[in-house]
Amino acid sequence: MSLLTVGSVAFDALETPFGKTDKIIGGAATYITLSASYFTKDNNLVAVVGGDFPQEMIDVLEGHGVNTDGLEVRPDEKTFFWSGKYHNDMNTRDTVEVQLNVMEHFDPQIPAAYQDCEFLMLGNTAPAIQKMVIERMTKRPKLIMLDTMNFWMDIAMDDLKEVLKLVDVITVNDEEARQLSGDYSLVRAAATIRSMGPKTVIIKKGEHGALLFHGDHIFFAPALPLEEVFDPTGAGDTFAGGFIGYLASTGDVSFANMKRGIIYGSAMASFCVEKFGSERLHNLTTQEINQRVAQFVQLSAFEI
Ligand code: AMP
Repeated sequence: MSLLTVGSVAFDALETPFGKTDKIIGGAATYITLSASYFTKDNNLVAVVGGDFPQEMIDVLEGHGVNTDGLEVRPDEKTFFWSGKYHNDMNTRDTVEVQLNVMEHFDPQIPAAYQDCEFLMLGNTAPAIQKMVIERMTKRPKLIMLDTMNFWMDIAMDDLKEVLKLVDVITVNDEEARQLSGDYSLVRAAATIRSMGPKTVIIKKGEHGALLFHGDHIFFAPALPLEEVFDPTGAGDTFAGGFIGYLASTGDVSFANMKRGIIYGSAMASFCVEKFGSERLHNLTTQEINQRVAQFVQLSAFEI
């Protein structure tokens, strides 16, 4: 089934304990669509970039089958820019700078050909824009998933609460879940967030895996213990892209299938962190992905 992703396509500058980059390509929707491309062939993007954004990266996305008809290029403006610095544990980071640039007046236009998308992924962007996208879909998608971050909770909490009423699944990290709910316990935080709208809550815990809350059920997926984590940027988006890409490829939104989706998402995220930026997602094979998934199965399999 078809997937529509809306979110940032960006320049990032990163600093980790292993090194520093100048401007490299990033953005939530970049990671999401690349990751999802390994699962669904009907993979549609709505985003905005400035005239400074390289055509080569648009070619990379298109090479992965991403439909970029909804990627607006504003020649006289600059692409969204984010820079972040990771702490030594690589699990926490500080935002050093955000330049909204072209995102400040992002007016997402949904091409007619995208209108029947069954899966909608609202990547990290202003909650008011996320809501606008839902309102601009002529038919409600089968599943709407939203990702957000502390930045929006700090400056647009009311807008965020409005859009949450309209979505089925939310992904946040543990700190964001605590900020959104006002509760330290992640179990209670998930219950509070579920009462705000999304019936399914995914809480990402970086190298400690992810929790899926759905009805009375809780599922936990570990993260793959890796010898080296080079750059965690985009891991959350890559996870989300693998999750929703897998759901879209199967068309199945049951809890049992979401569990599989969480494992596929975690496997994709484990690749993402192995190199700076999105590079590791450019040339994966189905065989590599399946081998990773098998490692996940092995990691927590036991008998009593
Ligand atoms: P993640 O590491 O999965 O949380 O996502 C990192 C990506 O999110 C980076 O590539 C950034 O370009 C993008 N990003 C960071 N801040 C924002 C923001 N305020 N709005 C939209 N995208 C953002």
